[in-house]
Formats: sequence, structure tokens, C-alpha cells
Amino acid sequence: MCIICVEFQSNKLTANEALKNVSEMRGNISEEHAKEVLKMIFVDSIRKNRKPKSENEPEADEDWKYGSD
Ligand SMILES: [Zn+2]
Repeated sequence: MCIICVEFQSNKLTANEALKNVSEMRGNISEEHAKEVLKMIFVDSIRKNRKPKSENEPEADEDWKYGSD
């Protein structure tokens, strides 16, 4: 357990923030634990049925609506 696990599991971090923290903490936590944290984030995002980076994806382009007759 590290600060990322604790905060992520108490919903203080989003998946995106936790991923960012893992990359920033790479020197402070073991490589093995980093993998565990990534797995935890991945499993959790599947459970919530959404991708960790969905917040950063651009809005769907809806221009096609105007081209239809
Ligand atoms: Zn941890």
C-alpha cells in the first residue's frame, strides 16, 4: 500500500490522477508495486465500465447530423 492506493481507494483520486501519480512516484515505489497500482486502476475502470482517459477525449463530432436529408 502507498499513498496512491489509499487515496484512490477512498475515491480521493480519479483514475487519471492516480495514473499520473504512479508515473510521478515511480522512483518512490517499487516497480512491482507500480504494476499492482496500474492493475488496480485498470480493474476499477473496467468495473465502472469506462476508460481511465475518457475525460481527455474530444467531444464526438456531430457534423454528420447536418449532412443528412
Ligand atoms: Zn500502493
